Amino acid sequence: MVRGPRTDGDARFSLDHTLEEKRMAKSFDAIVIGTGQSGPSLAVRLANSGQKVAVIERARFGGTCVNTGCIPTKAMVASARAAYVARRGSEFGVEIDGAVRVDMKRVKARKDEISGQSRSGVEKMLSETPNCAVYRGHAHFVSDSDIEVTGEILTASRIFINVGARAAVPAIRGLGNVTYFTNSSILEIDFLPPSLIVVGGSYIGLEFGQMFRRFGSEVTILQRGSRLLGHEDEDISSGIRDILVNEGIKVQLSAECIELSNAGSEIVAGTNCSDGSSVRGTHLLVAAGRKPNTGDLGLENTKIKRDERGFIEVDDELRTTVPGVWAIGDCNGHGGFTHTSYNDYEIVAANLLDSDKRRVTDRITAYAVYIDPPLGRAGMTEAEVRRSGRRALIGRREMTRVGRAVEKSETQGFMKVLVDAESKQILGAAILGTGGDEAVHCILDVMYAKAPYTVLQRAVQIHPTLSELIPTMLGELKPL
Ligand SMILES: Cc1cc2nc3c(=O)[nH]c(=O)nc-3n(C[C@H](O)[C@H](O)[C@H](O)COP(=O)(O)OP(=O)(O)OC[C@H]3O[C@@H](n4cnc5c(N)ncnc54)[C@H](O)[C@@H]3O)c2cc1C
Repeated sequence: MVRGPRTDGDARFSLDHTLEEKRMAKSFDAIVIGTGQSGPSLAVRLANSGQKVAVIERARFGGTCVNTGCIPTKAMVASARAAYVARRGSEFGVEIDGAVRVDMKRVKARKDEISGQSRSGVEKMLSETPNCAVYRGHAHFVSDSDIEVTGEILTASRIFINVGARAAVPAIRGLGNVTYFTNSSILEIDFLPPSLIVVGGSYIGLEFGQMFRRFGSEVTILQRGSRLLGHEDEDISSGIRDILVNEGIKVQLSAECIELSNAGSEIVAGTNCSDGSSVRGTHLLVAAGRKPNTGDLGLENTKIKRDERGFIEVDDELRTTVPGVWAIGDCNGHGGFTHTSYNDYEIVAANLLDSDKRRVTDRITAYAVYIDPPLGRAGMTEAEVRRSGRRALIGRREMTRVGRAVEKSETQGFMKVLVDAESKQILGAAILGTGGDEAVHCILDVMYAKAPYTVLQRAVQIHPTLSELIPTMLGELKPL
């Protein structure tokens, strides 16, 4: 197939001929655009099933989670926790001579090492997979079935879009006049910001805010809404706020009218346009949401539809509006997490290769917020259960009444569970407390099993753990 204008007879024929050869479409069974959390696994699975696959990556292999998301941030959260625990040493009878200081160069080097291993692992896996051609460059659609990358045209009857998302930079007054970090650029610093203003009170802003506070920065979190993590229940939002405030983080809610300016070496963030109140900091992190990488994908050359926020529209099996094209991971707006992106791969692979009908709607919402102690979440919130109007039961237990938390001197937070009064199935749970990100899985798994809560209530859990109190909590359910 020849694409692009021919200029036979032109003096530059040989040059045009070479260009044209380059533009001859290379045919594959499948093309995967992006190497996030679903594309690489899908590419390998397809290639191992005998299909000829092309994978295209324009930046770093492994995408957000590996390079600027989960892995580097959790590596740094671990460094921050080490500093926090060291400072609390005397509470546990451990004396440290001298002050606890954080070496940001070593924090960064450790993070880079962990992230780099993951990145090279993805690249190696793809480049060593037979039947899998790896292209480095920006891919864009030139038609429903043709992709251009570095001047070459690739064509396939199946195309999988795994282009992910990036930090959204909202229209904040004065933002253009000040220097600011996003979740990507703040990971590159190897120094301690003396004072950090964080715009955004959702999980990314909170994780960075607490981490830098523990490294030693003064931290102020500005949140437009009336509470942190506005989609969580109010008791979770206020519990998280307490945890952060207890560590000396300033949390300013209802900062509806933010205006930024420079004042010498500092940044001033006006937070209320009517009373003139403001906060100051040496550095600024904008963590105000994510935006799908679909604007420069050439979708205007296709019949692939996007919604008003730019997410690619997909059905329950992740098919776009063009037959033979799927959108997986954050770019379809149905997840926003590594585990949901990976599950997208599983759904597509099961449907295409295993004749196993799996669907997005089989998935139960689950995630963690990696402040410390973490929040583990599964299923519906209490507010969602109330709105649903069904008859429900609720159980709740404070971390002060969990032996394991007391032994560790980590008694902040609580856990709660919601149960359908008729079916006895668990509707949702939140565990804000030490080990909550892990313990929530015993509830999640019972939800997947669609078993009544009594199965978990009668389970004999290991002592001493946080999980052992989940059956106890289930034995004390009250009407919601
Ligand atoms: C700070 C932060 C912390 C996070 N922490 C967690 C966490 O703890 N747990 C969790 O589950 N999730 C977390 N996430 C979210 C998680 O990182 C993403 O949900 C996950 O990476 C899934 O992304 P993806 O598979 O959709 O694609 P991505 O990982 O975003 O990868 C997309 C890839 O596509 C490439 N690409 C884009 N456009 C093109 C193009 N046109 N041509 C070629 N290549 C292209 C990009 O370069 C990128 O490599 C975090 C995110 C952030 C920002």
